[in-house]
Amino acid sequence: MVSDLHLDMGKLHCILNSLMLLLLEIYTNKCSADGCKTKEMIPVLCESCRQNYCLRHRHPSDHDCKGPTSAKEQAL
Ligand SMILES: [Zn+2]
Ligand SMILES: [Zn+2]
Repeated sequence: MVSDLHLDMGKLHCILNSLMLLLLEIYTNKCSADGCKTKEMIPVLCESCRQNYCLRHRHPSDHDCKGPTSAKEQAL
C-alpha cells in the first residue's frame, strides 16, 4: 500500500536523522570544562582524566582536573 510505504520512508528518514546526529556527536570534540562550549576539530584529551577539552582547557590546572579515577583515593 502507498500509505505503508510512506510510513516506512518517514521511519527511515527518522533513523537517518538520528544516525547523522550520532555521527556529529562522535566527530565533535566538545570541551568537558564547566560552562565551556568550545568544540575542536581534533580530540584534545587530558592525560590525567582522559576527558576531551578544548585547547584552552587541555591542561589539568585549566579544567579542575579530577585525575585518573583509579588513583583518586591515593591522591587524597
Ligand atoms: Zn574549554
Ligand atoms: Zn584532566
